[in-house]
Amino acid sequence: MVDLAALIADIAVAMAAQEERGQVASYIPELAKIDPAHFGIAIATADGRLLAGGDADTAFSIQSISKVFALTLALGKVGDQLWDRVGREPSGNAFNSIVQLEQEHGIPRNPFINAGAIVVSDVNLGGHQPRVAIGEMLRFVRYLTGDDSIAINEDVAASETGTGFRNMALANYMRAFGNLRHPVDLVLGTYFHQCAIEMSCRQLALAGRYLMLDGRHPDGGRVVSPGRARRINALMLTCGHYDASGDFAFRVGIPGKSGVGGGILAIVPGRASIAVWSPGLNDNGNSQLGTQALELLARRTGWSVFSPPEEGD
Ligand code: GLU
Repeated sequence: MVDLAALIADIAVAMAAQEERGQVASYIPELAKIDPAHFGIAIATADGRLLAGGDADTAFSIQSISKVFALTLALGKVGDQLWDRVGREPSGNAFNSIVQLEQEHGIPRNPFINAGAIVVSDVNLGGHQPRVAIGEMLRFVRYLTGDDSIAINEDVAASETGTGFRNMALANYMRAFGNLRHPVDLVLGTYFHQCAIEMSCRQLALAGRYLMLDGRHPDGGRVVSPGRARRINALMLTCGHYDASGDFAFRVGIPGKSGVGGGILAIVPGRASIAVWSPGLNDNGNSQLGTQALELLARRTGWSVFSPPEEGD
């Protein structure tokens, strides 16, 4: 069996030595201020351990990783009816692309591209004011982690509100097709605030545990049904890295969801919930070192959804 603590230490050392660290997202001005030198990793295991390395306690903007938690809440509210308004196919386009929406009549390809996540925010609003939906989201991630200190960075939310012209275009376009039920500013207020939640790798790895445990909360009770956990994992594998989802599945082989803040949440069903963070992004908008670290971790542990668990694993 692999010594996970030693492996995490090796990975943190290897990543610290990397010179090619990608580019920090600059289209949200507040994110452009983050130092690309950071690298953090944390692994919550199915047997209840939490191992961490590098900057695992530094909070970062989870951005699109919030789409996993928002999807979980929306499925809880409307169940499979969600799929009348959002697809389940990889987009093959950038995270903020508008091109498919016209041909596909305002139905976004999946809940993990921006357009799809904006529809999910519309569902989560459910006739309330954004602060109610945002409060519910915060309570949910605090419940998943058992940590009430998790909060929203209001400067990041304001920064994105001031510059989120593409998201405004996506939302207005979908509203024109009748696929948003609430006013665009309320939907985007909800969406921008959920993206601005800050978590550390340690907190994020804890938050993902229900997806490695077939929907169970490790402290008892159920977050979602086993079937729903499996489906969320399937969507993370096929759609979690925008138009690089196929490459991530090929290189890493486990479900993962990235965000432009440089974080990635990755799930090894039955074994581990992993969070990595490094703010520099590759050309597809996914963390450069985060992806490399997960590739190394998967190779050294043998973790993959495409191979059986090893003896003693
Ligand atoms: N809030 C970001 C946006 O909508 C999230 C994008 C991401 O993390 O991929 O542009």
